[in-house]
Amino acid sequence: MASGKHFKYIVLGGGVSGGYAAREFAKQGVQPGELAIISKEAVRIILPPRMYLDVAPYERPALSKAYLFPQSPARLPGFHVCVGSGGERLLPEWYSEKGIELILSTEIVKADLPSKTLTSAAGATFTYEILLIATGSSVIKLSDFGTQGADSNNILYLREIDDADNLYAAIQAKKGGKAVVVGGGYIGLELSAVLKMNDLDVTMVFPEPWCMPRLFTAEIAAFYESYYTNKGVKILKGTIAVGFDADANGDVTAVKLKDGSVLEADIVVVGVGGRPLTTLFKGQVAEEKGGIKTDAFFETSVPGVYAVGDVATFPMKIYNDERRVEHVDHSRKSAEQAVKAIKGKEAGSAVEEYDYLPYFYSRSFDLSWQFYGDNVGDAILFGDADPGSAKPKFGSYWVKDGKCVGAFLEGGSPDENAAIAKLARAQLPAASPDELKAAGLQFASKI
Ligand code: FAD
Repeated sequence: MASGKHFKYIVLGGGVSGGYAAREFAKQGVQPGELAIISKEAVRIILPPRMYLDVAPYERPALSKAYLFPQSPARLPGFHVCVGSGGERLLPEWYSEKGIELILSTEIVKADLPSKTLTSAAGATFTYEILLIATGSSVIKLSDFGTQGADSNNILYLREIDDADNLYAAIQAKKGGKAVVVGGGYIGLELSAVLKMNDLDVTMVFPEPWCMPRLFTAEIAAFYESYYTNKGVKILKGTIAVGFDADANGDVTAVKLKDGSVLEADIVVVGVGGRPLTTLFKGQVAEEKGGIKTDAFFETSVPGVYAVGDVATFPMKIYNDERRVEHVDHSRKSAEQAVKAIKGKEAGSAVEEYDYLPYFYSRSFDLSWQFYGDNVGDAILFGDADPGSAKPKFGSYWVKDGKCVGAFLEGGSPDENAAIAKLARAQLPAASPDELKAAGLQFASKI
């Protein structure tokens, strides 16, 4: 251990939570050398003249959107945290100015919580007094299920910036070619849109009866599916990819579907979900609902060890429930809450319990939606959900036990989105379905 490095605070994971935690530590006051962020992520982008770039924490949602745009794609340093929430952009220099050590390209392969020691793949050791686990999720791969041919070239996934670079390169190499997107969730929808914008011939394939089934009702999904179809994206529902053909170079050439049909493909992008990265801590911390169980301050069952972002299963006060949330807004806020709690404990000052209102958004083509609250109970659609409209604007309320508990809005202005957030937070008694439908956005705006 003598050769190892010691820090008062270590954040394990240099993603969204890692970056927002660093900013909160700086706000609350941290001495140079006290805080380190350790992350396996770091690409070296070689630009003329040969230049190496370390990747400080960035806003991950950009990868499935502006990063892949055909014109003026977003590139670092444009989307380092904390621009996604309208804050200051934390460039790599910011961390050195604050005396925060960014230890990148370093995968931790062992975490020993009793001895407070992390060990990297290269054998380096790091000890800490307080640990913040912010390891996020990894993608589920078709090779995990043994799908035949799933390791062929150009079968791509998207989680980190090097995945986005691989996808960007494939798009450039296969201009005008055929792309098959496996998965009908938000990654599948966002990537199908951006592949189409790059003039590829795009087919989406997913097993469910409609897209985004975990959030969308059949009516909401019908709008997006028609909109995508009008843009030229083909949608195949109720079937899955069971195998892939490749040429002599190992490049994918076709996707074989369960219904027996075969789709030609130059690029396949798979978005079938993620898994929280908790393996390092198995058997060492309490777990719940697939994540690391925390209290309302994100402290785990091990004192001094906190877990935030995608990996945390925390008390969702508003619903008196414990949940794990894989959305960027929660990753930012949970990181801030944990750091406030750590510093509050040191100062002996009280910190309020985390009281999170679920919030999720997505953007594709000219569309943009936001959702707040809980999508349980009866859904009531309102507004103009005609995909042929010049500016469609519609939404849905979810009503449970007579209260409006969730709200979705496509095409809302900032004020309108703020109104549906307020409504979902207040859980006001709902009017009858007919009245809600007729009142539409007015129902939320009058609060
Ligand atoms: P991450 O941001 O994933 O960061 C985890 C970090 O830990 C990574 O840098 C990883 O390399 C590192 N790490 C993991 N294990 C180790 C290890 N053993 N050693 C060292 N480092 C390690 N959410 C929305 O609400 N709206 C969106 O539009 C949206 N778009 C998205 C688009 C994409 C392409 C993706 C992948 C996600 C999107 N999300 C979106 C989800 C959102 O980005 C995540 O919920 C958020 O990034 C989670 O933050 P995190 O800090 O928990 O994990």
